[in-house]
Amino acid sequence: MILTATMHTGSSVTILGATGSIGLSTLDVIARHPDRYRVHALTANVNWQQLAELCLTFNPKFAVLNQPGSVDQLVRRLSEAGSKTQVLTGLAGLCSAATGEEVDIVMAAIVGGAGLEPTLAAVQAGKKILLANKESLVMSGKLFMDAVKEHEVTLLPIDSEHNAIFQCLANGSAAHASGVRKILLTGSGGPFLRRPIEELGSVTPEEACAHPNWEMGRKISVDSASMMNKGLELIEACLLFSIKPEDVQIVIHPQSIVHSMVEYMDGSTVAQLGNPDMRTPIAHGLAWPERIDSGVAGLDFADLKDFQFEQVDLERYPCLGLCQQVAMSSQSHAIALNAANEIAVEHFLDELIRFTDIPIIIESVLEQTISLEDHTIDTILALDEASRIQARETILKRKRK
Ligand code: NAD
Ligand code: MG
Repeated sequence: MILTATMHTGSSVTILGATGSIGLSTLDVIARHPDRYRVHALTANVNWQQLAELCLTFNPKFAVLNQPGSVDQLVRRLSEAGSKTQVLTGLAGLCSAATGEEVDIVMAAIVGGAGLEPTLAAVQAGKKILLANKESLVMSGKLFMDAVKEHEVTLLPIDSEHNAIFQCLANGSAAHASGVRKILLTGSGGPFLRRPIEELGSVTPEEACAHPNWEMGRKISVDSASMMNKGLELIEACLLFSIKPEDVQIVIHPQSIVHSMVEYMDGSTVAQLGNPDMRTPIAHGLAWPERIDSGVAGLDFADLKDFQFEQVDLERYPCLGLCQQVAMSSQSHAIALNAANEIAVEHFLDELIRFTDIPIIIESVLEQTISLEDHTIDTILALDEASRIQARETILKRKRK
């Protein structure tokens, strides 16, 4: 990772995925520092009402609605309120918002593979990238990291674990270069940590989305319940910090206070701790290498009575086992894994399949995956699409049985 220290006053920020959990937390931090940040563009998928409200509060130059269906309503609402915000749509609109000349910082917080093209466009335009959208990195792997190097991009991980590792690694230098023995990636285990395994086939989307410590979008909440999220984070960590998957240990830490750790050759283990609130890594990313108030209180150590660490049980979390295999195999398998998971989670959230069907569908798609010879943006997107089709077919076949 190439890091250049930038001292911005009045930096111009685009938020891809502004109406989501990370997007709103980013706006919360930005609103605390009107002297340091101004909003260039806000984007959303379909929720034009929420996007309109955010535009009226933050006055961006551009608003992007990905699905053009409700664009007329958005334009009308903004003009009735006397707003000067211009409305764009679709992928072209997202990419333009991410690459505009006056943009300094892009928060990549679209969920899923849909974030890949606008995020990569921002990288290619040399913007400072705050990366929450882990799926885009998992899908594009080396292509993404090569573009980061080529365009001398400052890439700051927002995923709380990777942000913690970045902080533990003395400003994010590649792991092998700094005497690192291993990375300890912590995860809470989600809402089903103590649930009898035989009950997991009947859990509901609401139960899966009820994370004990974090409030997040529905897709990442299900991923946390299955620990697919930790698996995607394993792949993310290997790419961000140039570390081998066998040197990353997953540790269950139900309290989500230690956000990850780095163990060094000399026996030191450095950890980053904090209340589970994404405004901390977001503020870190926005201001790096400085520090700013995020609105998050410090820890009260007198209150931290239970502080547990446990080994992960792969029988409970088969999705994590699949990710560990994929992390040691090919980039193509990472693309297929991510695509199949997105389709399986969508179907689970729509109550069309069971929670325990998710790893079965992913495994079936992985078995059909043939490694690409070359990973370009076009071959990546084509394999992503083909894997989504395979996942849908697998679901249909299983239903017919
Ligand atoms: P979310 O579902 O709350 O928000 C997603 C955002 O993306 C929304 O603004 C939505 O309008 C937009 N979006 C969805 N589909 C889109 C599409 N096809 N095209 C364009 N925009 C689209 O999700 P979230 O919880 O904010 O997560 C966002 C990303 O950040 C994910 O990749 C997630 O893994 C990552 N992340 C989230 C958290 C968290 O605490 N929420 C923590 C770490 C990493
Ligand atoms: Mg995380």
